[in-house]
Amino acid sequence: MKVMEWITTLLSIRPDAISVWSHPEVKERLSWYYRVMRNEMPAKFQIAKRVPVEADLFSQDLSLRDLWSLHEESSRIFRDYFVAVKKGEINIERLERPKHSYLDVKVAIAYRLMSPCRLCERSCGALRLEGKPGVCLVDKDAIVHSYFHHMGEEAPLVPSGTIFYGGCNFKCAFCQNYDISQVMARSGERLSPRELASIQVYLRRRGARNINHVGGEPTPHLPFILDSLRYLDVSVPQLWNSNMYMSLDSMILLEDVIDIWLPDLKYGNNDCAWRLSKVRNYWEVTTRNIKRAHEAGDMIIRHLVMPNHIECCTRPVLEWIAKNTPRALVNIMDQYRPEHLVAKYPKMYPDISRRPTQSEMSEAYKIARELGIVFEPVS
Ligand code: SF4
Repeated sequence: MKVMEWITTLLSIRPDAISVWSHPEVKERLSWYYRVMRNEMPAKFQIAKRVPVEADLFSQDLSLRDLWSLHEESSRIFRDYFVAVKKGEINIERLERPKHSYLDVKVAIAYRLMSPCRLCERSCGALRLEGKPGVCLVDKDAIVHSYFHHMGEEAPLVPSGTIFYGGCNFKCAFCQNYDISQVMARSGERLSPRELASIQVYLRRRGARNINHVGGEPTPHLPFILDSLRYLDVSVPQLWNSNMYMSLDSMILLEDVIDIWLPDLKYGNNDCAWRLSKVRNYWEVTTRNIKRAHEAGDMIIRHLVMPNHIECCTRPVLEWIAKNTPRALVNIMDQYRPEHLVAKYPKMYPDISRRPTQSEMSEAYKIARELGIVFEPVS
């Protein structure tokens, strides 16, 4: 099948992937992503590649502090370029490719943060460059379980060029992807950054609107993902589909690279997060990162409605979104079902051992409507 026929076939599966763009709020709130998706603007990583840096970044003489200083300096230049690109004052294709760039600084820092690992707020300190896996089960290589054009994502995203990475820093008792995130996390294929770039080219050339980094969780793979962008010569929106439990350093590395954020905000308090996902300080960490991401770009927040968690989770989550990330579109998800440990030991998790009821979903939608949250076009 020819590429255009293939893309037409894909879009016929989800006609709302076209019609959603007639919704003015979707188009306005996802305006950067929309333009990158249509190749009217370069993806942010392409701009970061053009910001020159005068230093030998991979020399061991440079301390982490030196690298962060270079990052700060380059970030300021990036912002100027970004504004000029948006106004049409710079065509990045005409800019010279520097020997070392802002993107290279990010890659150099990310590898340093990997051993002892503090890429996420678990900060478990695994010596991953020595091949020792962390709590997330990821070590020195990217592990990929599958990649394909995902047609089940939110309408503005499909066909979404999704890469499923192995391993996760959360231990959700109800995980629907528990095979790749927990049980068989390390059984995927180990790929180099160059191979990751080839996958992205393959997905984009066959109609992907974006590259959707997901898992498991993409955060443990951050160095490999950033590194892959050094080899990627095709412009395509980079989408970060994450639990947002990355460290502040990882968050800063992502900020000038991601074109559209797809964060998950599930729990409205730390007790539920600890009991069901075994993470500490969930609320402080995820809201800090989501707020920063919202300031950095376009966003669709996912909230999974869980049975019996309307008052402790859904309500505070939606209230926080309305107050702190007013430009975000929100997907209020009804697809929770008991899986993994909850399916195996339902008596240990009585609150979430069933699907949410229609009345719980109606209550979630009612709260969102009262708060003025835009959710219908992407839920
Ligand atoms: S990303 Fe993995 S290895 Fe790194 S701190 Fe988090 S859990 Fe530990």
